[in-house]
Amino acid sequence: MRSFRRFAAIIAIAMLVSLIGGCGTGEQYSVEPQQVQWAEYIGDNDWPFLPKNIFTFDLYENGILLIESDGKYRVEIEGAHSPEQAVVLAGEYGKCYEVSFWSKTDKLRIARVNTDPRTLGEGSVIEYSADESVRYYSDKPGSDAFTSFMYVCREESEYLIIYTGEQQASLSIDERTMLQDSDIEDNWWIPSQYTGNIDGQGAYALGDYRWSSARVLAELYDPYAEKYPDYISKVYLGQDESKSFPMYGYIYEPEGYETTMFLTSGTHPTEETAYFALARFMQMVCDATADDILLYTLRHKVRFIVVPMINVWGVSQNHDGTAELPRSRIRYNISGGSLNQDFDDLSQQESRNVYSFFKQYAEDIDIAMDFHAADTSGKNGVTLYYNFINNTPNAVANYKTTNHMHHRFVELGYSPTNPNLSKIPGSYTKSSAYLEGRLWNEFKVPTITIEHVLHGLFPDAHSSESMSLAVEIFGNFIVQNALFFIANN
Ligand SMILES: [Zn+2]
Repeated sequence: MRSFRRFAAIIAIAMLVSLIGGCGTGEQYSVEPQQVQWAEYIGDNDWPFLPKNIFTFDLYENGILLIESDGKYRVEIEGAHSPEQAVVLAGEYGKCYEVSFWSKTDKLRIARVNTDPRTLGEGSVIEYSADESVRYYSDKPGSDAFTSFMYVCREESEYLIIYTGEQQASLSIDERTMLQDSDIEDNWWIPSQYTGNIDGQGAYALGDYRWSSARVLAELYDPYAEKYPDYISKVYLGQDESKSFPMYGYIYEPEGYETTMFLTSGTHPTEETAYFALARFMQMVCDATADDILLYTLRHKVRFIVVPMINVWGVSQNHDGTAELPRSRIRYNISGGSLNQDFDDLSQQESRNVYSFFKQYAEDIDIAMDFHAADTSGKNGVTLYYNFINNTPNAVANYKTTNHMHHRFVELGYSPTNPNLSKIPGSYTKSSAYLEGRLWNEFKVPTITIEHVLHGLFPDAHSSESMSLAVEIFGNFIVQNALFFIANN
């Protein structure tokens, strides 16, 4: 943890250095490639999974103005000197780039085009629709701030125009290797056990998605706390906002643990898959034997601090037909507040309970992971959706896991094309309103939100098939981050 936080500080310094020594002023029509160096902040680079992915990259300046109107980008090739600056990244098919810079993000525009703007004459215009697959984040929207986004080049001829609105906006391009099937190593975890459906049906049912929060804990967590009293302790966190539902955390603490991970689920009650999958994964960790060396490693080297149910009220509604809301609409707590966006204000008791619990252990926590299950067909149609703080050393473990899981989707026949790089989403941090944003911004603990995306893949989200994959997705993110922190602590 300590060494990791030093990394974070070094990254910040490296960004400033690259700012000072970055792109020159906006000379119009300059087509000379400029070398932009990503500062060497990794040192000896002994990360377990990391390719030495520090690259220089050619950026091209041009007199390009990028204007957004009605969801359309209008790219104008400017003849006259413009104080603004845009850069063009000529992407290479299949490559993944992380672009980082300082910018006033309210001016930031990013467009993906299939015409090389450098070949166009003065006054030329390219019209292009806004492409939301190029997401970006900033720690301080609207002000000078560190900004970063991921970009996957998915056409043979593709150019990314980045308009920062700055006269001198230094950019760093970090090329991320996209793993191929052949690169998948043998330390990926595949659930060895049948994970069961959550319809409450059949001998192998893991549970029932209609269970109240208390019942989920009583059936899926408490028996393990009783079975392993020296390993698991149950902690009362306080009542929820309704003052009717208690909240609990579980601490899985092996003797001589080497890393601490903070895991949460149940923020969104309609995302049952997520909290059942996390419960199942924790059960498997508890029972792990040396035959399953990855889970066995976690069982003996990782302290897990788990809040399985954040929205205890929401999860407990409408199970007996008496609730005032149809279950499909229960994404909020009793106040109608979105707990997912309450971590700046901490206006709700559930958020305060989670925050206080985290804070007690914050110094020792290496990563926080929040599990969801996107129940809409949105999210740009991705089959795996995640947000994480990508400006941290463990980010590569997350890239790698995402890539791996993408290929697992393909292997299992879930992805319509093979492989479709566009299915791997961008990543970004969030504001402190979100749990992960708050924990990073205040405690500099890296965080990740992982969503098991259901629609378009599984006709029945509660099926064993869906549950198995959810357990595998969540499990691999936990395993890979655990291995990373064990190796680096
Ligand atoms: Zn959610």
